[in-house]
Amino acid sequence: MSARGTGASEEGAGERALPWLAAPLRRTLETRRAHALLIHGPGDVGQFELALALAEGWLCEATDRPLADRPCGRCASCKLHAAQSHPDLLVLVPEALREALGWDPGGGNEAEEAGEGSKRKPSKEIRVEAVRAAIAFASTTSARGRGKVVVVHPAERMNEVAASAFLKTLEEPAGEARFLLCSAAPDSLLPTIRSRCQHVVLPVPPIADATAWLARHGVAQAGVLLAASGGRPQDALGLIERGIDAAGWLALPRRVAAGDATALQGWGLPTALDAMQKICHDAAALACGGATRYFPSDRVPSDANLGALLRWSRELARVAAEGEHPWSVDLAIESLVGQGREALKTPRSRARRQEGFSLNSTG
Ligand SMILES: [Zn+2]
Repeated sequence: MSARGTGASEEGAGERALPWLAAPLRRTLETRRAHALLIHGPGDVGQFELALALAEGWLCEATDRPLADRPCGRCASCKLHAAQSHPDLLVLVPEALREALGWDPGGGNEAEEAGEGSKRKPSKEIRVEAVRAAIAFASTTSARGRGKVVVVHPAERMNEVAASAFLKTLEEPAGEARFLLCSAAPDSLLPTIRSRCQHVVLPVPPIADATAWLARHGVAQAGVLLAASGGRPQDALGLIERGIDAAGWLALPRRVAAGDATALQGWGLPTALDAMQKICHDAAALACGGATRYFPSDRVPSDANLGALLRWSRELARVAAEGEHPWSVDLAIESLVGQGREALKTPRSRARRQEGFSLNSTG
């Protein structure tokens, strides 16, 4: 099941089943009039869902309601929106993200597929062809008479060519289109794109809302997984969907400290790297007398070696930056866990190991 509830019917339209979006949605509908909005926040905290809800609200035909009380979820426009077939809405997402977002999972977005062969890997970028199609879409007349909306998510996935093409549209808006750019990394956007947009900042959701939402999705020990995800409930649900529960998360630092790479088996490289980076962060925080963020402090070795942690952290970052890996994921994780074990050793176990070295002088 996707983490994205698309159930306007079950939860009231608009906030797309993410209760912490109700207030920002209302506020944004009431106060933001610019033709381009940049919705950003720390990681994924519902930018895409808010953009869709805003689009639905602007296009909603229940004009007897105040704008802040839209979308109604019942009018013809809202029904088209729910069916992902509204003629005045264009959503640009990289093909590789469509399924996870629950948006057009069949991959029927002609704009993005224009001129492409069918056998290539799904693109992780928003391509210039897609942006050009969006510009053409934006310059035509609204089919249902309530304007047009283009959603770009995540905006930082536009490559340089695509971003420059997009910028021209923001500078010289043609027609009646409004643009919603979503981002978790607004600093990586062209400064000229940032400055052409009115900003909407989404904070990490309140803990109470987030844990209640996770509990409603059947997540046990929601607080543990919420901390594991830096307070981002959708990421916490993503952990569960990957088979990682609270018990598995809590046991992880000690298992990595023991060199047990099977603890991360089946997690996939990005999630395993992220988890090890969090262990590294928390171990470094404890070693410096600070507080942990992702694990309870009693779950993390408390006097790890800072120098070795730094080397581990750099190696984790290096592997993460490589992206695609020609070599075995299991071997990569095994090697990184091995470094983690060295870094997380307490002085006593380090001393024991050094004795071992001097006695038999083997690695
Ligand atoms: Zn409506």
